[in-house]
Amino acid sequence: MIEVNGNTKLTGIIGNPLGHSLSPLMQNTFFDTLGLNSIYIPLKVTPENLEQVIAGLWALGFSGVNVTIPYKEEIIKYLTGITPEAEIIGAVNTLIRKEDGFWGDNTDGRGFINALTGETGWVPKDKIIVILGSGGSARAVGISLAYRGVKKIFLINRNLKKAAELASTIKRLGVSAEILDWENPLVNKLTAESDLIINTTPLGMKPANGQMPPINTELMSPGQLIVDLIYNPLETRLLREARGRGCRVQNGLGMLIHQGVLSFEIWTGRRPSLAGIKSKLEAALND
Ligand code: NAP
Repeated sequence: MIEVNGNTKLTGIIGNPLGHSLSPLMQNTFFDTLGLNSIYIPLKVTPENLEQVIAGLWALGFSGVNVTIPYKEEIIKYLTGITPEAEIIGAVNTLIRKEDGFWGDNTDGRGFINALTGETGWVPKDKIIVILGSGGSARAVGISLAYRGVKKIFLINRNLKKAAELASTIKRLGVSAEILDWENPLVNKLTAESDLIINTTPLGMKPANGQMPPINTELMSPGQLIVDLIYNPLETRLLREARGRGCRVQNGLGMLIHQGVLSFEIWTGRRPSLAGIKSKLEAALND
């Protein structure tokens, strides 16, 4: 562990709640293994204080900040500017300190792609994708896949207005997109035939481990890749059932790590070692 002193650079994460966030453990491990005199602190923020907090972090010299639920969208109005990727996603998870103030970026989508392609060797080009949900993480994931030239993205969601907004953004990027509600008969055909199914809903997240999105996993077969953005539990019911059908599966821990790596690189210009980080985070989750 670093010894905090007058030269220690400050970084951290703002959100609420933060009790279960793995980011402090991950980012402080990165600083530690590179021997950087920096620290990453969880900063629980209440909504009425958000604007003051941003001004305070700036005044205190914070060199980098992550943003998580529920502030990824609301924070944008307090920033000097945002990157084109954060703009199209409509959310920010990383603040970058520049001369004129904090700028916002979004590393969730790139982190998802790096985890997906890096860990499985999966190639997005020309693939048929199903995204379950159309919230903030679905936007990051769907837009990033659209940038990588997938063939078509189907969005299944209760709130069809939200799904339609994301579909129109995806279409603007030149990729075909279609929206469905959960009762649409096409859901079964897509469950059986799509190349990649991604759960971006919280269904199955601890403590509701018995839940899963309402799709029939018995229709799945080997050759399909099923990804759940949830990482607690490490294996959701959806992934367990999909694995039982012979599908390749991936949980959300890789995305969490890779979005954090990208933020770290933006702040420090250094690439952290990933050796042992996954097992360290898994151990923290099992504590
Ligand atoms: P969000 O913006 O609130 O979106 C949640 C989505 O899930 C919405 O589309 C919502 O549908 C749908 N949903 C929620 N409850 C549902 C239910 N009972 N039945 C059907 N659909 C339901 O949340 P988010 O930020 O995208 O996060 C979603 C999940 O991704 C969480 O589990 C989060 O932990 C995980 N996540 C993981 C990472 C990572 O790094 N691995 C990063 C971000 C998020 P409606 O629009 O119809 O309400």
